[in-house]
Amino acid sequence: MYKIAVLPGDGIGPEVIREAVKIVRRVAEIFHLGFELKEAPVGGASIDQFGTPLTDEALKLARDSDCVLLGAVGGPKWEKVEYEKRPEQALLTLRRELGAFANLRPARVYPGLLEASPLKKEVAEGTDLVVVRELTGGIYFGKPKGIEREAGGEERAFNTEVYSTSEIKRIAVKAFDLARRRRRKVTSVDKANILESSILWRRVVSEVGKSYPDVKLEHLYVDNCAMQLVSNPRQFDVILTTNLFGDILSDEAAVVTGSIGMLPSASLGNHHAIYEPVHGSAPDIAGQNKANPLAAILSAAMMLESTFQLYDVAREVEKAVETVLGEGYRTADLHRPGTKLVGCLEMGSLVEGHIRK
Ligand code: NAD
Repeated sequence: MYKIAVLPGDGIGPEVIREAVKIVRRVAEIFHLGFELKEAPVGGASIDQFGTPLTDEALKLARDSDCVLLGAVGGPKWEKVEYEKRPEQALLTLRRELGAFANLRPARVYPGLLEASPLKKEVAEGTDLVVVRELTGGIYFGKPKGIEREAGGEERAFNTEVYSTSEIKRIAVKAFDLARRRRRKVTSVDKANILESSILWRRVVSEVGKSYPDVKLEHLYVDNCAMQLVSNPRQFDVILTTNLFGDILSDEAAVVTGSIGMLPSASLGNHHAIYEPVHGSAPDIAGQNKANPLAAILSAAMMLESTFQLYDVAREVEKAVETVLGEGYRTADLHRPGTKLVGCLEMGSLVEGHIRK
């Protein structure tokens, strides 16, 4: 029995998660799998009910489950809540408590959605990459950090980029394992011509790479990678990088696909994982059956692959998404003349109907 904690959250979160759950149930039925899905409020929904964005019960549910399937949190209603109690705190707490150190963000340009990319068709076409970002170390957490006033009265601010061998090793292993299930190429991104932390990064990644002789490893400086992502994104398979560089590069890679409603993500630890669409709670379209559920559905596919190792089942879900897009169905965010406009619920049902054994 696979245990999933379902945390729909706010805004369009519950709408897109309802469709993702529909797919999980369909897959269970067709492939004779047992999933135990238990739901809890998170973010603003939890603040409204319990006065806190993440209750101990919800956290316990997440800890006792194999993984979390999360919608999105936040919205104007909770913007004035004090910082420590904001909906977003739930995500930070969950990532920390579940030890999620590896963030995976696939960026794929679907054949039917080429026109959504801001890049030229011939550049964007065929893009299919994953950014593997280290999530719990580096400059965002390194110490010392602070803002000091110097003797002359001038202020001085500083942060520390710090990585240990074990931190680099465990994220590198995730990237190489992933590459083995894909096109067997890892591009490690650093700034080893300037930063000592990058020199160690490059050395440890190269060392880990020796255990994966079947995976091609290349190293790229971050400035070069930023350029290559928009000039030749097709060359990439798995991009492995630090917290800071990954933050920036994963957004750059995402924009190449041109559609926020299509982007899934995974945050992996050693024993737990969180799967969630990249987009937020989209209050502007919440409750109108307009949201694109495909990012949430593709997040569920990542869950089937990464946590439950149901590779063929995950492929089936992805294929169903491709088929529905190929047939011309689009939610409002991707609707163009000549395509067929459907709502969130209908899009979920179309994908559901295309899942086959
Ligand atoms: P957003 O991603 O919610 O929305 C940005 C734009 O994209 C909006 O116009 C929205 O309608 C559209 N959009 C997003 N997802 C869509 C989908 N699935 N289908 C169709 N259109 C979609 O970002 P925002 O407006 O900056 O933030 C809204 C709220 O969400 C804020 O409270 C923010 O803090 C929160 N947020 C949460 C997360 C998360 O839970 N992981 C991430 C980002 C933002």
